[in-house]
Parts: sequence; C-alpha cells; structure tokens
Amino acid sequence: MSAFEHPSFDEHEYVLFATDPETQLKALIAVHSTARGPATGGCRLWKYPDSTAAMEDVLRLSKGMSYKNAMADLPLGGGKSVIMRPEGDWDRDALFQAFGRAIEALNGLYITAEDVGVSPDDMMNIHKETDYVVGLPEGEAASGDPSPLTAEGVFKGIGVCVKHAYGRDDLEGVRVAVQGVGHVGEYTCGHLHKAGAELIITDVNEEALERVSSKYGAKVVKPDAIYDQDVDVFAPCALGGVVNPDTIDRLKGKVVAGAANNVLATPDMGEALRKRGILYAPDYVINAGGIINVAGEVKGAYDLNWVRGKLETLAETVAEVIRRSESEDRPTNQVADDMAREILAAAAAKKKG
Ligand code: NAD
Repeated sequence: MSAFEHPSFDEHEYVLFATDPETQLKALIAVHSTARGPATGGCRLWKYPDSTAAMEDVLRLSKGMSYKNAMADLPLGGGKSVIMRPEGDWDRDALFQAFGRAIEALNGLYITAEDVGVSPDDMMNIHKETDYVVGLPEGEAASGDPSPLTAEGVFKGIGVCVKHAYGRDDLEGVRVAVQGVGHVGEYTCGHLHKAGAELIITDVNEEALERVSSKYGAKVVKPDAIYDQDVDVFAPCALGGVVNPDTIDRLKGKVVAGAANNVLATPDMGEALRKRGILYAPDYVINAGGIINVAGEVKGAYDLNWVRGKLETLAETVAEVIRRSESEDRPTNQVADDMAREILAAAAAKKKG
C-alpha cells in the first residue's frame, strides 16, 4: 500500500496506524493540518475491504476537515480517523476504549468526534480514556445533537443564495425541494416553513415523510421525482453524488444548497452547474454548523452565543465565495477550495514564524 505516493496524499502532517490485538482494533488516524489548531474531525467505523481503502478514506476525509474548519473560521486544524470494523465477535466498548487510548497517546494532536457508524455511546467509551473527544452526549461541555445547528447554517446559506440568484431578501413563497427529511432535513424544513417557503419533500422513510409533511404542509414526491420539481431551490439533505450527469439537466431552479456532504459526484459538476446558471453553495461551507457546534466544546464550556456568531460568519463566507466566483468567472466549488488553501497556507506561514 502506498502512502506518500497515494493520489489522495496531500502533504498530511501525520498518518498513524493504531492497533490493539486484544480488542481487534485496527485504526488509521490522519492529521492533515494543525496550522490553525488541533486536527479535529470525526471517527468513522466502516467495513473496509482492506487497509488501502481505509487509507484512501482517511486521507481524503482529513483534508476535507482542514478545508471545512478553515472556511468556518474555527481555531481547529483538520484530521479524521477510521476504524476497520472487525470480523466475527468483538467487544464494542473495549474497541472504542482502546481507540481512546490511542488518541490519548497523541496528547492533543488530534481531537475526535462522531462520524458514520459511530454512536454517542461509542464517544462516551472513547471519553473514558481521553479528553480529546468532542460531540459528547452528556457532561458539562456536551454540545449534544449537531443537526439543529447544521440546519440553521444551511437555512442561512439558502437565504444568501436566494438573495443572490433571485434578488430577494426573504423566502416568502420561494419553492424549495428538500431531498431527505432526516435529522438535518427536518430542522431545515422547519426554518424554511417559518420563513414562508413552499416545501416539496422526498425521503425513503415513509414515517419521516408523513411527519414532516403534516407539520409543514409540504408536498410529497417519490425519491427520483425530486430532481424534476418546478422549484427555485434544490436542497440535498440526504446522500452525496446527487448532482451528476443523470440529474443535472433535470434541475429547474437557480440554486443548489443543502446539508449533504459530497453533493457533486465529481468536481467538474461545479462548472457544469455554473454553465447552466445554477448557483451552488459548496457543501463543506454551508453544512459546517455541526462542526461549529462541536467546536464550542473544544473551547471549554459550551457557549451557544459563540456558536451562533460563527453561523453568521458561515453565511458571510457563502456570500464571499459567490462574490469571488462571479468576479473570477469560476465555479464556487473551485473558489471555496482555493480560499481554504489560502487560509491554511497563511496559518502555516504564521505558525512557522
Ligand atoms: P439522516 O440519516 O438523519 O437523514 C438522511 C435522510 O435521508 C434519512 O431520512 C434517509 O431516509 C434519507 N434518504 C436516504 N436515501 C435517500 C434517497 N435515495 N432519497 C431521499 N432520501 C433519502 O442524516 P442527517 O444527519 O440528517 O444528515 C444528512 C446529510 O447531511 C448527510 O449527507 C450528512 O453527511 C450531512 N451532514 C450532516 C450533519 C449533521 O449535523 N447531522 C452535518 C454536516 C453534514
């Protein structure tokens, strides 16, 4: 397995393997950048076919966290960890405690949090061994469920995009297609409804659909029909890769802005959207409310006012990405990546002194 030659290797500061035969722990921890603070990002538990696949994921995701944290103006660097799900019988509590010991050994270089396949209980097991963990469900500093804050950021970001694309300051009567009404999607619908938007929703979970539809008077459509709706905004709040060659020509509105990660199937979809006159809010900029929320824990006592202030910054950053995209005649996803790299380079230079 290659590391330095790996296509996703981006001069990561550290890439570490953590093993504990007794608990079957096999984990990779990637510290992409500590230029702006301790490398922070979630821990993913996944059934990887081999360590090469785990390496690919951890390199890519940790770089993404550096960009996301930098664009959200958080005093954090970027990192991520992946645990290769053991085969056969294994003790979940013991595995996460062993992982906690590995993090403790890094002495604050990396701070972990929840990600795919990992639960609040797992976080508490990690916390038994280390304080370098955020997103805790209980305790003095606990920030709790990040979804409401993610939704608040997404709602603000949609407002910025609508102002830009349609020249209006409010969302009264604006038609929004929301794909996925899970944790973030449902809260986002709540904000949009309160602001007077008309909602069209879809999900594969009938129960969630019924609940959100009756609460907010939303029209329900089948999952695949969401791309064809005559709306002003498409808000992906479920899966990644939903803007792709099969869907892009079906989108009707002038805005794509939602909570989902990796909305663009490939980076060139950013330019394809721009060419069609569709404004795209880069996913890791608009959906940073969750990491902003847990960053409240890193600071010590959780402070909702600080978190809300950062959500205002998030909205301003979305606006700045749009301004630059227009003045430089380039897609928003490229502009956001460049802005993030500039912020990281400046922080690295300052750190070196
Ligand atoms: P969730 O699992 O609670 O909700 C996702 C919803 O999408 C579910 O209701 C699911 O049934 C639905 N769904 C799945 N497949 C679908 C399909 N084909 N068509 C329509 N709906 C489908 O997850 P969440 O926490 O609400 O996160 C939603 C997205 O936002 C994810 O991409 C996640 O990575 C991203 N995100 C979440 C947070 C957060 O704070 N939770 C923060 C940043 C980014």
